[in-house]
Amino acid sequence: MTDAGAKRPNELSITEAASVLRSGQFSVRELFDACFATAEARNSELNAYREFFIDAETDAAIDAAQKRLDTEGEKAPMLCGVPLAIKDNILIEGRIASASSKILENYRATYDATVIMKLKAEGAIFIGRTNMDEFAMGSSTEHSAFGATKNPHDVSRVPGGSSGGSAAAVAAHTVIAALGSDTGGSIRQPAAHCGLVGFKPTYGSISRSGLMALGSSLDQIGPLTKTVADAKILFDAIQGNDTLDSTTIPAESPYEKRGTPKVFRVGVPYHLLDSGIDPDLRANFDIALQKIKEQGHEIVEVNLPTSSYALAVYYVIMPAEASTNLSRFDGMRYGLAKRGKTLLDDYVETRTEGFGEEVQRRILLGTFVLSSGYIDAYYRKADAARAVLTKEYDDAFEKVDVIAFPTTPSPAFKFGEKSDPVSMYLEDIFTVTANLTGMPAISVPMGTVMREGKDLSTGIHFTAPKGADDLLFTIGAAITGETLLHGH
Ligand code: GLN
Repeated sequence: MTDAGAKRPNELSITEAASVLRSGQFSVRELFDACFATAEARNSELNAYREFFIDAETDAAIDAAQKRLDTEGEKAPMLCGVPLAIKDNILIEGRIASASSKILENYRATYDATVIMKLKAEGAIFIGRTNMDEFAMGSSTEHSAFGATKNPHDVSRVPGGSSGGSAAAVAAHTVIAALGSDTGGSIRQPAAHCGLVGFKPTYGSISRSGLMALGSSLDQIGPLTKTVADAKILFDAIQGNDTLDSTTIPAESPYEKRGTPKVFRVGVPYHLLDSGIDPDLRANFDIALQKIKEQGHEIVEVNLPTSSYALAVYYVIMPAEASTNLSRFDGMRYGLAKRGKTLLDDYVETRTEGFGEEVQRRILLGTFVLSSGYIDAYYRKADAARAVLTKEYDDAFEKVDVIAFPTTPSPAFKFGEKSDPVSMYLEDIFTVTANLTGMPAISVPMGTVMREGKDLSTGIHFTAPKGADDLLFTIGAAITGETLLHGH
């Protein structure tokens, strides 16, 4: 890890920030102000934030965190006084949460998401809410109703999506870390494009209470951070069984306990990597595997034949669930309300004006695959394929501890380059499987590729058996060269 002393406060990781706050080198206020000054300076160009939370409530949180650090010292929680950015689809009581959609533009949350309650209890400070693809549908943040976010490493390119605002905010050092949500790759893909660590936990390990539902059997909240250690710190702070979300994992975990092996068997499905991958990115992947081998771990070829159908399966199941979840935005219960001549007109006008094109496309697609004439041909087939895919991974994990591939097929693309929806959907080819099967997954930086004189980030992606989230932090740290703190 680099020397915390040589960095500006906003450039620190969570671990480093926690240590300078404890040593008194910086106060909570100084750390927050350093982040906010950079955020304000960069945001007109990047459009990473929808809103900054600069008010009496934030001031009070800063003062309370400082007091706690002063009295509790080393015993204060790691996140006490650490500024975080929150994706615009996670509820913070009293604050607007719009999912970057016109339909919820002025919607104010009436309660805290469980993750927010936990972070408040730790003393974390929320600097603002971040831009995203509308209702988390997209891979570039171009589908936000409030303009795209730019990639801080090359502003002519997308930061990825849908958590592109959170990723750009952290990568531009406007905040120490951020939360995103991941339904098919929305934390890991922007992490790869912005040079960050992005983590999607085992389905059910983090409460979805207060996360706006997209695909309820796929959605998970997770961290976007500068280091693997930070991802673990945030995960540990927000995970846990929750009576407000019956899909959270019970305290007595249903998953087989796996110890951390000394020698990892890393599975690589080479058959999935034969075509469609940028050659420079592929070269980075091979170098990363070599690094793993040199540390004494084994590379084992695995066969996952159904994976080639994963994207098709995802783009049936995800729109099906989204079309159902989004039916609640009807002009009666939340947000925008248009009034026509009849009740039907009210619905049609509200939803036509409130939802963007991609959201409407997915609602149409989802309604179609669930309609009585087609549910067997599409939705039930996809659901059966999902079960086969899960079995295939379970079998592979009998032979290997983790499975590796690149997070994305290519580095960050230019604005407008993927205006054809299918070309955009192909961005998720490697990430959707973790959501379909419920496995945990992490994206870790694996070096850059040069395009038009700019260094663009790339990411390596690992998945592990359900419940074995910790294996991902260990193998991720093997790539970044970090030593992980235990038992903080
Ligand atoms: N890009 C994928 C989609 O558009 C994933 C989105 C997500 O994970 N929220 O559905």
